[in-house]
Amino acid sequence: MNTASIQSNITRIRKQICEEEVRYHRQPGSVQLLAVSKYHSLAAIEAAHAAGIEQFAESQVQVALDKMERCTASLTWHFIGGVQANKTKAIAEHFAWVHSLAREKIARRLSEQRLAVSEIPLNVCIQVNISNEPQKSGVSEEAVLPLAEQVMALPGLRLRGLMAIPRSTKQFAEQRAQFRRLAALYQQLQAQGYCLDTLSMGMSADWPAAVAEGATMIRVGTDIFGKKQER
Ligand SMILES: *Cc1c(COP(=O)(O)O)cnc(C)c1O
Repeated sequence: MNTASIQSNITRIRKQICEEEVRYHRQPGSVQLLAVSKYHSLAAIEAAHAAGIEQFAESQVQVALDKMERCTASLTWHFIGGVQANKTKAIAEHFAWVHSLAREKIARRLSEQRLAVSEIPLNVCIQVNISNEPQKSGVSEEAVLPLAEQVMALPGLRLRGLMAIPRSTKQFAEQRAQFRRLAALYQQLQAQGYCLDTLSMGMSADWPAAVAEGATMIRVGTDIFGKKQER
């Protein structure tokens, strides 16, 4: 996809976000757009940056590091893929956020490895397997609070909120029902005193339903950059 198309996609999505915020009585500007650049080149990232996008998400460590190394702009990088133990060091050192935290052991490694290189904690969201799909990562609903407690005790991490990738469905009401479950868990944590500000939910196919249910950060790839590119 060329620069002009990426930029017009961003303009269109921004306008849609404003419209959905109004429709669902959300505060204007309360939904952040995270550009999922995982399948796309540095040139595509630079085109999106020129259109004002500052936050990018990647799901493979090595692919992301290659782009970061060549990138001259100062961008904020979010990791959204499965976190393997042998990749935590690179993630802790090069990313500002991890949305896909689901294990205590990984949390401890990330915290330690972050503290070794930075005084600024790594922002994390706990990934919840909200639809209980066996092939999807994320903790069960019951495991959210225990993991949140463990993460709060780690000085190298800052727990910002929750993330989920619900079961894919075209039905808007079903999309909303799934996002509502994540929003309810988020509110429960807040009611227990957790100071959270990030409900990371909604992708190209379902983000309006996520905004309706309180998403504060939507993760959009295909709608900005087009389909996966062969690189
Ligand atoms: C790929 C991916 C996205 C973006 O999906 P699109 O359908 O391309 O918008 C969002 N979140 C996660 C965790 C992803 O892996």
